[in-house]
Amino acid sequence: MRADVVVIGAGAMGSATAWWLARRGHDVVLVERFEAGHDRGSSHGVARIFRHAYEDAHYVRMAKEALPLWRELEDDAGQVLLELTGCVDHGPAPVVERIAAALIGESMAREVLDAEAATRRWPGMRFDEAVLFHPEGGRCLADATVLALQGRAGAHGAVVRFGAGPASLEVNAAGDGVRVRAGDEEWDARVAVVTAGAWVRQVLGAVAPVPTTVTLEQVQHFTPIDPALEWPSFLHHRADAPVVYGLRSPGEGVKVDEHHAGPVVDPETDAREPDPVRRRAVADYVRAWFPGLDPTPVHTSTCLYTTTPTEDFVIDRVGPVVIGSPCSGHGFKFTPLVGRMLADLADGTETMPDPRFALRV
Ligand SMILES: Cc1cc2nc3c(=O)[nH]c(=O)nc-3n(C[C@H](O)[C@H](O)[C@H](O)COP(=O)(O)OP(=O)(O)OC[C@H]3O[C@@H](n4cnc5c(N)ncnc54)[C@H](O)[C@@H]3O)c2cc1C
Repeated sequence: MRADVVVIGAGAMGSATAWWLARRGHDVVLVERFEAGHDRGSSHGVARIFRHAYEDAHYVRMAKEALPLWRELEDDAGQVLLELTGCVDHGPAPVVERIAAALIGESMAREVLDAEAATRRWPGMRFDEAVLFHPEGGRCLADATVLALQGRAGAHGAVVRFGAGPASLEVNAAGDGVRVRAGDEEWDARVAVVTAGAWVRQVLGAVAPVPTTVTLEQVQHFTPIDPALEWPSFLHHRADAPVVYGLRSPGEGVKVDEHHAGPVVDPETDAREPDPVRRRAVADYVRAWFPGLDPTPVHTSTCLYTTTPTEDFVIDRVGPVVIGSPCSGHGFKFTPLVGRMLADLADGTETMPDPRFALRV
């Protein structure tokens, strides 16, 4: 069969790319190895943090560019997918000041509070150092977003294949096209977009080396003692320990996790079992820092980070192959923007990648 573009991997990024390409009238096929809604990759779960608050102005600007695209997706899907509940960063003053400076540089609304004022405002949480609040932070509804993107891509004409088994990619002899095989199906196309998450290196093979490390991250939820308490999304920057982040996740409680704290795993073979030792460690943290939560974890699951050495994304094109590896544990908030960046490279709307995300070989 022929297509203009075959997208390999229907997580957040592949589904967003197919949505953009289908809306532009391209003949696009989205191929996913597992069933719809599976929990083997990086995009499953109820909620993800949306924030502008980065020390790095490049990501502040990307969040600013992504926000209206979230609204565009919501309009097309007819549902709310991003809720601005506010986001709090707290921790050592130098860290918080650097984030504040990046927000100021991009004229983003923000508020600096001392620990006492913050504790009064969010009595479910405890603070002991500098606190920065920005109202244009909040939560993306992850599962709902992926489902909406897949549904809308299909509605705009994309062919969406779930449970296809692992797709393989071959660049043709002339180097101006690809053949993608999955199960007993085969597509010849001008371009392939590889958004295979933790499997990106396996799918790309010799096409391009992408330096990624895959880790198994763990997600816990805790029950608010008083359901009426207000919960912004939050990041606790700690001097000698991983950042702790979380948010109110509708129907699950308050999510509390450690960032980049998981073991390196092989996505193809290793088990996805939560680690009881880490669960206890997070429960101890909650006991110390969240007076408003019952420190008994109520819901634990796992998820994969695919991290580059710089924690930057890889968004680039090599011949007829577009590469999207936008994770490093912080990609979801940019989903509709990254989808557009990948679609632009696939259909030639853009011929040069953002230099920041170009493949470094
Ligand atoms: C615990 C956790 C918390 C996070 N929290 C946040 C947050 O608060 N804010 C934020 O912005 N980001 C967050 N992230 C990061 C964000 O979720 C990821 O960056 C994003 O989901 C990556 O999407 P993806 O499409 O690249 O990967 P995936 O969703 O993994 O998609 C890749 C898809 O490719 C498929 N695939 C692989 N190989 C093949 C093949 N050969 N053939 C066909 N299909 C294939 C896989 O099955 C998978 O469905 C978090 C991630 C985790 C794990």
